[in-house]
Amino acid sequence: MRIGYGIDFHQLVEGRDLWIGGIKIPHSKGALGHSDADVLLHAICDALLGAACLGDIGVHFPDTASEYKNIDSKILLAKTMELIQSEGYRIINIDSTLCLQLPKIKPYVTQMQEVIAAICGITSKDISIKATTTEHMGFVGREEGLVAHAVVLLKKGL
Ligand SMILES: [Zn+2]
Repeated sequence: MRIGYGIDFHQLVEGRDLWIGGIKIPHSKGALGHSDADVLLHAICDALLGAACLGDIGVHFPDTASEYKNIDSKILLAKTMELIQSEGYRIINIDSTLCLQLPKIKPYVTQMQEVIAAICGITSKDISIKATTTEHMGFVGREEGLVAHAVVLLKKGL
């Protein structure tokens, strides 16, 4: 068994789509980044890589590489899964928390779970997605950005 932890941050700006957990969420602002800036998928990728001691998302998918410009982060998660599977690992479960003031993500959680579960070869019951505001404090509270934390448990073999 191996535990892994990931955290990711993105700015929220006008004129960008808001992708969280592999789905596009209607909102007046979107996350700024080299890829589609999906903060939740990035945190999960980092947690997976961390559990397998394979570095981080920036090592495998550098934001200087044109091939990753505006890339769908579901592709990055799929590539990350290939990396951990090549080391003989499978996922037991993922737990995650999103920190953002707006929009409310609860209506989208089931769909996010289904998308992530399909990529990771687990069931929706194995992927927990929680959300919190920061009670209007700090950059999250001012709606300048959002944060995702993720913890994963991997097991080697079947
Ligand atoms: Zn990111």
